[in-house]
Amino acid sequence: MLEDGSQRWMSGYGRITEERDSQPVRMSGVMFDVDERRRADDALRLADRRKDEFLAMLAHELRNPMATIRSGLNILTLTTAGDETTHSTVAMMNRQTAHLVRMVDDLLDVSRISRGKIELKKSRVNLVELVRQARQSIAAEFELQGKVLHIHLPSTPVDLEGDATRLIQVVANLLTNGLRYTGEDGQVWVSLIHQHQEAILQVRDNGIGLAKDQQSAIFELFVQVDNSVARSKGGLGLGLTLVKQLVEMHGGRVDVYSEGLGKGSTFTVHLPTLTTAAESSPMPAPQTTDSAAASRILVIDDNADAALMMTMLLKLKGYEAYSRTSGQAGLEAAERLQPAAILLDIGMPELDGYATCRLIREQAWGQGLAVIALTGYGQQEDRQRTREAGFDGHLVKPVDVDELTNLLTALLGKTPSG
Ligand code: ADP
Repeated sequence: MLEDGSQRWMSGYGRITEERDSQPVRMSGVMFDVDERRRADDALRLADRRKDEFLAMLAHELRNPMATIRSGLNILTLTTAGDETTHSTVAMMNRQTAHLVRMVDDLLDVSRISRGKIELKKSRVNLVELVRQARQSIAAEFELQGKVLHIHLPSTPVDLEGDATRLIQVVANLLTNGLRYTGEDGQVWVSLIHQHQEAILQVRDNGIGLAKDQQSAIFELFVQVDNSVARSKGGLGLGLTLVKQLVEMHGGRVDVYSEGLGKGSTFTVHLPTLTTAAESSPMPAPQTTDSAAASRILVIDDNADAALMMTMLLKLKGYEAYSRTSGQAGLEAAERLQPAAILLDIGMPELDGYATCRLIREQAWGQGLAVIALTGYGQQEDRQRTREAGFDGHLVKPVDVDELTNLLTALLGKTPSG
């Protein structure tokens, strides 16, 4: 505190001189005025936090328009026949939308990680199977670009305690980079070995490679190596940050090796494994018994476009679908229509999804039907909140059409015949 009452940050170093019976008698030292530096630090931290919050908000807000575009494309995919030009245009738009969804998901994940908000849903998983699933998600892209993906996997399971979705994401990100940073004759080799309670997953490519001084920086947030090929092909510089953080959250580590520019790169992921035999707890596949009766579904979403697209999609899948654009109108329609399931948007003005669901559950007709939340929020706590409000299912926008139909089939116990 200064004489004029203002306060400043100081930093001091000093030494106390003691007499024989431990009594201090003198202190000598220096004090530095670090006020400016400390305030600049605080401002920087605040700006950094605001940036994280902005990224989270941005990624979240982008989901709504993307959800509608994705549903529209799904409809076009299901209805477009014959015409080759339209067919390939729709296919291209589907691919690009999937890419957009992936980037937004990465953005959201990264901002969650930097705010310490990501959670792993761990269970016993077989890494061999997860690598196969990651390959499946990207194999078509390799083929399309005329590149070759070689995979060598052990014949026995490699079990570990992990989050299946996140581990698939790790492998898929590395494969995506293998695709991105290789030239026309691009090849990517994936191998997995299990030794000394460790799974060692290697993703090697014959691509543009990395100079020595670039190799440690690439795992940092937003870092993209400034060489012309990488710049023209890169995404947001988030993929490897996520790989590193997710692997570390699983108790593992990742490193990169490259002999230099133009000499290809090798990414190696080490993950601790479980040694005992696997308990078999595969996810039960939803029962898909055929039934002639189409099921009636009501969509309630204040975004009229989103509601319309969803009903069109449901109709194409053989359901009898209706939509309303407010909680109140939805309640009235539900009472009259007695649908088998309601797809209910959470963020709506006046009566939001939670309140609407509670009101549905208070009605005699609202006990037996399935209510599914449609929301941009997919964290564990969000799912718990919808469960507590009486929802039977929780879908995150943009909704994946297969996930939607699987959930409906599981909840309604049948598929519509259309
Ligand atoms: P993005 O690919 O979106 O730019 P990443 O975090 O996945 O972000 O990668 C960061 C950077 O690391 C890339 O921009 C690229 O320069 C470099 N990089 C990643 N993978 C490879 C690879 N297999 N070969 C060469 N460079 C790579």
